[in-house]
Amino acid sequence: MKRGFLLSVALLLLHGAVLAQPSAPPAESGETALYAYRKLGNRYIVSIKNQQEIVAALKAFCQAQRVRSGSITGIGAVNAATLRFIDTSSRRFTEKMFSEQLEMTNLSGNVSTLDGALYLHLHITLGRADYTAIGGHLIAATINGAGEIVIDDWQSPLERTYDEAVGVNFYDFKK
Ligand code: FE
Repeated sequence: MKRGFLLSVALLLLHGAVLAQPSAPPAESGETALYAYRKLGNRYIVSIKNQQEIVAALKAFCQAQRVRSGSITGIGAVNAATLRFIDTSSRRFTEKMFSEQLEMTNLSGNVSTLDGALYLHLHITLGRADYTAIGGHLIAATINGAGEIVIDDWQSPLERTYDEAVGVNFYDFKK
């Protein structure tokens, strides 16, 4: 009888303790004219607003959140895109603009700094209405539909240095 009573009290206290557990703090979120975001630990879920330019929005986001290194992935839709093809053998690059509705089937890239300034390295693959795809370095693209981006903040400095021999801004882990 006594044991049963003590057990009941213990269960009651345990139940109270479970109920008293503080719930998870509300996730940090915010919004500007270019994007809305939610922060989950070191990860940001970013929604670029319709008709906004992706690279400008991502730069503004990284500046505002002080993301100095990290990775970027995304999907969505655009109706204008300027892509760059870099020929490292000739050290020349060419840019081409596409003005049509395109699926952003993949955006992948990273965040680092070059001489302390924010540096985004972005590659993109875009699907056309005939289900073929184009791709290259993303210079600019205008969202026409959704722009769903995930940014992981590595929270560590990551500098680049221009390599004269190759003509590329390589990661520089000595910095
Ligand atoms: Fe590249």
